[in-house]
Amino acid sequence: MTDLVLVDPEGLEPRYPSHSQFYTDWQAIEKPTPAAAPSSDALAAVTDDAELQEAVVDINLPEAGYRAARSRYDEFLADGIGTYNDTRDDMAAAVDRPVGAVSRLSPYLAAGMIGIREVWADATHQYETASSDAARQNIDKFRYELSWREQHYHLLYNNPELPTENYKTVPNPIAWRNDPTEFEAWQRGETGYPLVDAGMRQLDREGNIHNRPRQNVASFLTKHLLVDWRKGAAYFADKLVDHDPANNSANWQWIASTGTDTVDVRIFDPVAQMAKYDDNAVYVTEYVPELRGVEPEKIVDWPNLSAGKREELAPEYSEPIVDRDRAYERAQRVFEEALGRR
Ligand SMILES: Cc1cc2nc3c(=O)[nH]c(=O)nc-3n(C[C@H](O)[C@H](O)[C@H](O)COP(=O)(O)OP(=O)(O)OC[C@H]3O[C@@H](n4cnc5c(N)ncnc54)[C@H](O)[C@@H]3O)c2cc1C
Repeated sequence: MTDLVLVDPEGLEPRYPSHSQFYTDWQAIEKPTPAAAPSSDALAAVTDDAELQEAVVDINLPEAGYRAARSRYDEFLADGIGTYNDTRDDMAAAVDRPVGAVSRLSPYLAAGMIGIREVWADATHQYETASSDAARQNIDKFRYELSWREQHYHLLYNNPELPTENYKTVPNPIAWRNDPTEFEAWQRGETGYPLVDAGMRQLDREGNIHNRPRQNVASFLTKHLLVDWRKGAAYFADKLVDHDPANNSANWQWIASTGTDTVDVRIFDPVAQMAKYDDNAVYVTEYVPELRGVEPEKIVDWPNLSAGKREELAPEYSEPIVDRDRAYERAQRVFEEALGRR
């Protein structure tokens, strides 16, 4: 376990009320440097002529192994980390520069193809040698994101039931609806909410979803559709190339308001989120071809347009499967009832 993280969970409190309090303790502990590579003489001579089975998947898997991980990280260190905070939520940049706007290191970290100490040491070297305060702040944001990964390992270490049980105890059961037809529409990326559908189709096409739409698709499933987070987490576990039991279950629980979020009921509004992060619909039209050629403002506002207008603009694209306001209010009510406030 201690090889997977920068700070041994045993050296921290078993439970933290917020990420910022976790971060304060975690940050104060010195991070270990990477272990030196062993000399080849010290390694056993192993020959194995067993044939590896080809993975049967219909997506382009990232190249495997340490060298590929190292080269991806070098690319990000050279042209990415210094502007990371400015680009990490920019959906158009994520389409134009998949590695650069963010690191895309997660499949390698999840599979242990690059060590977290090495990632930390190189980011810290960049931080210490940065030529401007702006670059330093950007690099520090990248290191800060790694602290979320650390907190999720810490959570799983102290709560092995995290992938299956609600972390937070609430007085009443959450009234999940678990409608199978809506769950399937979500899986196919046919909810009629452009940002959600683009995210789910990116998952299907690449085995990856950028973090911003990842948050939105998870929120839409658990709040607008009221499908139990465990169903979404299991679907992600099947599809993600970066699937990581700690990060997946902790993030799903955070989004579903059953986890460590300090906001009691957080609901992402996919219309406002698209207006903020993909207002030119670059990301959405990359993955939802039915909407190509429609003015970006109309795509952003899609669930608010009249059915007739939607039919005229993009007859092939799905109708919204839930009403934006009613689904939002229903989610608010269901979670407040679970919290015993109604
Ligand atoms: C519902 C949901 C499920 C998720 N499931 C996974 C999962 O199975 N595996 C996984 O690695 N990440 C998961 N994440 C977190 C996050 O979306 C990915 O780590 C990130 O998108 C990976 O892209 P990147 O490597 O370019 O990240 P960058 O933005 O470049 O960040 C660098 C690294 O920091 C860590 N990191 C960044 N954001 C988070 C976060 N929110 N939580 C934990 N660590 C983070 C990751 O190790 C990431 O590789 C999930 C998020 C959500 C909302």
